Formats: sequence, structure tokens, C-alpha cells
Amino acid sequence: MDITQFSQINPPQRMLMGPGPVNADPRVLRAMSSQLVGQYDPAMTQYMNEVMALYRGVFCTSNRWTMLIDGTSRAGIEAILVSAIRPGDKVLVPVFGRFGHLLCEIARRCRADVHTIEVPWGEVFTPDQIESAIKAIRPRMLLTVQGDTSTTMLQPLAELGEICRRYDVLFYTDATASIGGNELKTDEWGVDAVSAGMQKCLGGPSGTSPITLSARMEAEIRRRKCVEEGIRTSAHRKGDDEIIYSNYFDLGMVMDYWGPERLNHHTEATSALYGARECARLILQEGLNKGIARHKLHGDALLKGIQAMGLETFGDLNHKMNNVLAVVIPTGVDGEQVRSLMLNDFAIEIGTSFGPLHGKVWRIGSMGYNARKDCVMATLSALESVLNYLKFRSVQGAAMQAAWDHYHNQCVA
Ligand SMILES: *Cc1c(COP(=O)(O)O)cnc(C)c1O
Repeated sequence: MDITQFSQINPPQRMLMGPGPVNADPRVLRAMSSQLVGQYDPAMTQYMNEVMALYRGVFCTSNRWTMLIDGTSRAGIEAILVSAIRPGDKVLVPVFGRFGHLLCEIARRCRADVHTIEVPWGEVFTPDQIESAIKAIRPRMLLTVQGDTSTTMLQPLAELGEICRRYDVLFYTDATASIGGNELKTDEWGVDAVSAGMQKCLGGPSGTSPITLSARMEAEIRRRKCVEEGIRTSAHRKGDDEIIYSNYFDLGMVMDYWGPERLNHHTEATSALYGARECARLILQEGLNKGIARHKLHGDALLKGIQAMGLETFGDLNHKMNNVLAVVIPTGVDGEQVRSLMLNDFAIEIGTSFGPLHGKVWRIGSMGYNARKDCVMATLSALESVLNYLKFRSVQGAAMQAAWDHYHNQCVA
């Protein structure tokens, strides 16, 4: 084998302005290049405890069990669903985009009895719609997505916790795309379990998934664990349905590893934990609300610029996430050609789309480290130039002027 054909890693400089991943904050990359320590080194266990405390701040919760699942955001989703859902459990999934379908798919693998309600892509549910479905179906769990990047919509969650309590339903949400850039109040809203990921508004690389569990959710998982231990230690098979079928994602075991018992489970992904810790420090140093306001400011400036270019947006703008915008590809314009010109001539990546929106919209994000004025201005300028070059004419400079005006008005307001 000729080893010289494998050069040292040296990725091209890109500005990632899609729906995620986005560029990691340099502080996070520096933290991640720190040297390793042993799994039970007091320094490491202290970092684990600090991560728990920091993410309580990020999730707005006092939940004891706030920790990391090693793996991308999907690992956090799967750990919660696999640990909470017993075969035959009824679950309700309000589907308003691709990630709702993912929740259904994972729940089916847990052998749940999956019920869905749907709205067209670009819309969200009212609390009444969700309450009627809960009344009709009487599920054990409600599985929601807070921000679905496939449609850019943000499902309001504030009223759902109270509804879930009334019908004794466990309430889970996937906040991967929304956390850090949009309000999420785990305790105040009565959410029993939340999972997230690093590569959207949290400003880190994918690879670890922060989660938080309410005491109610913990009790449900612990109860299964007792049955499971009975099965492991004696030969009797009764109660097999209570076994959490995954070892890696068994949250009972993960809690025993993160808790004072420190029972050996996996080896916590040390570099990823360093990165996640720095992401939380960044967010809390800025202030959660200030960070959310920053995402709104740049998201709105991007929207103003896109509108000034004469482009249409997709979906209900009143329920859009602050951090990502779906832009309708004008007729006669080849969306993929625009993306490759943006990438090759400007080193800017914007996103394509899936499913019903494939080939119809671009998704442009300004989140995490890239929720910045210079990123928004550069993206608008590049898109305007590329579209003009491809004969989709707009007034040159109008997009940037509109964004500038927005920044100016927000500052004087
Ligand atoms: C981006 C995104 C994910 C990403 O999952 P990964 O496993 O990290 O790729 C999950 N859920 C939602 C809602 C997302 O927007």
C-alpha cells in the first residue's frame, strides 16, 4: 500500500450555512484537542459532573439526570425511546416533517403501537389538535419534535406538558435543531425527556447527544431495570417484555455510570465530552436568552435579505425556527447548480431538501458559531450574485441593503 496517497487531513475552508452541521466554535475545537485522562480519573469524573450541571442550565431544568449519550443526536433519541417504550405501548407522534417519521420508525423498532397525526409540511399543530388525539388514542407517551429542520418549523410545546399530565402521558421532545436558538423550558413546560445534538445551535461537532430526564421518566426506566435484573440473575423468563433490548442505550445503566456508583458501562467519549462542555460554557456565558435573541436577529436579517431579492419562502413564517429558513427555488433555476456555484466559488454551503420538498427549496441556516452578521451578509451576497449570473435578475445589492437596514433598525429600536 502506498501510504503517500493518503495526505494529512486538511479539509477545505467552508462556511456552513445549511440546516446543520455548521462550523464549530474555535473554542470547542481547542477544548477537543486536549489530552485524554483515564475513565475514572478524578479530573474526568469531575468533568462529567460539571457537564451535568452545565446542561441543566442549557435545558432549563433541575433534573438530576442530565447527561450525554455518546453518538450523534439519533443516539439520544434512541436511548430515550428504547429505555422508555415497552413492547405494545401506545405512542402518539404528531408528524410535521421528516424527523417525526424518524420517531415513528424508532418507536416501531421498540415494538410500540404507533399512532400518528399529520399536518402538511410547513405547518405545526395546535395544542387542541394534540389534545384531541391524546383523548382519542390514550397513549402512554407523546413523542414530538420541537424544531424539524426538514420543514424549518418550530412546534410550540409550552402547553403540551399540562395536557400530558392530565392524561397521564409521558412527554418527550427532540430538540436537536432548536435548542440554543429557540426557547426550550424543560421544567416549566413539563417535558419528561429531551434529547439534543451538538451540530446545530450548540456550535459543536456531531458525536454526542445531551439528554435530560424528569423524575417521572427516571422512575419508569428504573422500574424496568429491576425486572431486568431479576431476569439476568434468575432463569425465569416471565416479564421478558420489560427488558430494555439495548445494552448501549439502556439508560438505567447509563445513569449508574454517570451517578455516584460509577458502574462501568461504556468508556465516556472523552474528547466529545470536552467539546460538549465547552459548547455549554459558551452558551451560558453569553446567556441563554441573549443567544436565542442573537439567533432571531440573524435569522430575521437573512429573511429580510431573501425577501428583498424577490425570493419566496416556504412554510408558516410565524412558526419558523429562528435558525433556519426554507427558500423556494425559483422556476427555471437549477437548485443544485446554485449550490455548487455557492460552494465552489464562495466556499459557502447551503442545504438541499428531502421528501416532498426535494428540489423545491433550499434551506439556509445561521446558527451556533455561524449566527453572525458577516456570515449572513456573505451568504446573501453570494446567493444574489449566483442568481444574477444564472439570469434570475434582482436589484443588485438589495438583499444586503435590506439585511443592513434590519440590523440598523434592531440596534436603534
Ligand atoms: C439535525 C437533526 C437531527 C440530527 O440527528 P443526527 O443523528 O445528529 O444526524 C435529529 N433531529 C432533528 C430534529 C434534527 O433537526
